[in-house]
Amino acid sequence: MAPSDAGEDEIALCGRCGYAANVELAVSVPPDYTPIDMPFEEVYTPRIKTVDEVSRFLNLPPQNFIKSLLLITKDAPVLALVRGDEELHEKKAQRVIGHYRPAHKDEIVEILGVEAGFIGPVNMINQKIRVIASTSIKSGLYVGGANKKDYHLKGINPEEHFKAEWHDIRVVRQDERCVRCGAGLKIRKVIEIGNIFKLGTKYSVPLNAVYLNKDGAEVPIIMGSYGIGPARVAAAAIEQNYDANGIIWPVSIAPFAVTILPLSVSDEETAKVADAICATLKSKGIDFLIDDRDIRPGIKFKDADLTGIPYQIVIGAKTLKDGLVEIKDRRTKETTKIAPEKAAEHVSRLMIVI
Ligand SMILES: [Zn+2]
Repeated sequence: MAPSDAGEDEIALCGRCGYAANVELAVSVPPDYTPIDMPFEEVYTPRIKTVDEVSRFLNLPPQNFIKSLLLITKDAPVLALVRGDEELHEKKAQRVIGHYRPAHKDEIVEILGVEAGFIGPVNMINQKIRVIASTSIKSGLYVGGANKKDYHLKGINPEEHFKAEWHDIRVVRQDERCVRCGAGLKIRKVIEIGNIFKLGTKYSVPLNAVYLNKDGAEVPIIMGSYGIGPARVAAAAIEQNYDANGIIWPVSIAPFAVTILPLSVSDEETAKVADAICATLKSKGIDFLIDDRDIRPGIKFKDADLTGIPYQIVIGAKTLKDGLVEIKDRRTKETTKIAPEKAAEHVSRLMIVI
């Protein structure tokens, strides 16, 4: 994963111990939960439905609530529970129950006999509904829907009042604490540039791809697959290296190291110097591009910056009169004036420094 704001994935990163995981798998210490002692009882909450509304009405913080969501899978409805201040992670939930969609308003009434705002894991009319719950609410006392119009239940004790399958199904958020070292986690957007899959024996068993172990027995090979996307590497490098004028290729993966800009192609001396520099670069094995189009210098400069080749060798008639050419570093914009015969050598030194 390469960090980039243009990324389509998100990872949780710990700056202290190096923990890093896709948010689809990332774990964290849930934000602090202060248990509040409350009796197990129904409370009248007329027309008050969302966690925020009930939280204000009862003057209890959202982390002391159970948020209940009815999901529809291809097999059956599933009730998913997270803490009031948490969100359900779609992919994490999918790994547990398969593909699903949120239930529509009328489906909720049909399946649970009550409107969305008052549903909960206790006293469901249909006790056979599968319940999955975030491990963050496994202990403590909570407020949740009472499965009765205009009522919530206080003092729900998950260990006592309902049965659920416990899973990590919550979204990890910025600044939550790292499970390994306790430091704050950062959430960064990333571009996936490579991946690893453990295939196990999925293919080796049917293909009878086996090896002999130390006891001489045939054992299926455990397989893995490893991929790197060159186009994604290039895209990530560009997203991480650019300015207002265009791309700034890192030297290591630049399509060319140098672009040569003879400003006046009709000038004989310019052409001669350009040819000589090309020959030296070639002898040093340095890849280069030459812009020998008969166009205005301004366009050449703009195009050279846009395409982002790391070094530009500018050959202008004026500087050439002083026996010099100009070398520009695309990243730092620094220019150096140097004798044409030393230009290739200078560029090769710059490349090593990077
Ligand atoms: Zn850590």
